[in-house]
Amino acid sequence: MRAPETTAVNGAFDRPLLLIVDDEPVNLHMLSAGLGPDFRTCTAEDGQSALAAADRDVPDLILLDVMMPGIDGYEVCRQLKERDKTRDIPVIFVTSMTDEGAEMRGLGLGAVDFIAKPVNLRITRARILTHIQLKRTREQLARISQEDALTGIANRRRFDEVLAKEWRRGLRARAPLAVVMIDVDHFKQYNDCYGHGAGDACLQRVAQTIARSVHRPSDLPARYGGEEFVVLLADTTLEGALRVAEDLRLGIDRLAIEHLASPHGHVTVSCGIGVVVPLPHASSADLVSAADRNLYLAKSKGRNRVAA
Ligand code: GH3
Ligand code: MG
Ligand code: MG
Repeated sequence: MRAPETTAVNGAFDRPLLLIVDDEPVNLHMLSAGLGPDFRTCTAEDGQSALAAADRDVPDLILLDVMMPGIDGYEVCRQLKERDKTRDIPVIFVTSMTDEGAEMRGLGLGAVDFIAKPVNLRITRARILTHIQLKRTREQLARISQEDALTGIANRRRFDEVLAKEWRRGLRARAPLAVVMIDVDHFKQYNDCYGHGAGDACLQRVAQTIARSVHRPSDLPARYGGEEFVVLLADTTLEGALRVAEDLRLGIDRLAIEHLASPHGHVTVSCGIGVVVPLPHASSADLVSAADRNLYLAKSKGRNRVAA
């Protein structure tokens, strides 16, 4: 017997989940049995149950019949593409309606492919694997484009995106938005004394400590660049931002990473805070600049401190 080739999908060992939708039980059975060795499958016999199933346990791909009683496959596809949770699931129409109009309509609704009945299982399997592979590659690229490679926390691009979004939200809600700018003290000397490898490891520990100092889902710690980090705190006052900044400063102080070239004897950070209630004529760049100015104030007052 041929072994399941699930590792063909991007090296993933878990079998991808397929949702198979068809109002003919015999078709459902044939597809589930035929694809079963390579995929986990779940089935739905009508459009409404298909939408519920996709929402309950988001599948890696949906094989969707077009002609069904109640809501048809086109409508199911349209509704899937409307919802955040199901939008990115690749949909393949499996249908006996193979004229150009039917296919154009399905592709126009966001389906990735069309398979004609009667189904050839080997070709169907190959197409499914291709589309799951493409989806996983897309997800990987999306993640990489938002993540800092060294520390694994959000990168500058992600920070800028979230800042713009939270700025608009703060504007609508008239809620304060806070930014904490963090810069490692005397880090050039740290590299000079201990080498770049140790410098990188130090930045990783600093990033982890910063990430652990924030608790709300909307808080975003990010690497701003080099040895500079930033934390975005939505709906947070100066008092709240001061507490987060003091916590993370103390957390890094307590790591006690040796740094004999620093007057403190170990690795420390300086923090600057900016807080503002967004206004239509102001810009989020001013908020970052305010945090930056306070960071330099913290540096000039002796480092290893928070300024606001
Ligand atoms: P200050 O206390 O005023 O912040 O002094 P500093 O030495 O930390 O500031 P400066 O901006 O002069 O130097 C920052 C150094 O951070 C320069 C660079 O060698 C180091 N650095 C930036 N990015 C990385 C990185 O990804 N890895 C390592 N190892 N070092 C980095
Ligand atoms: Mg710096
Ligand atoms: Mg520095």
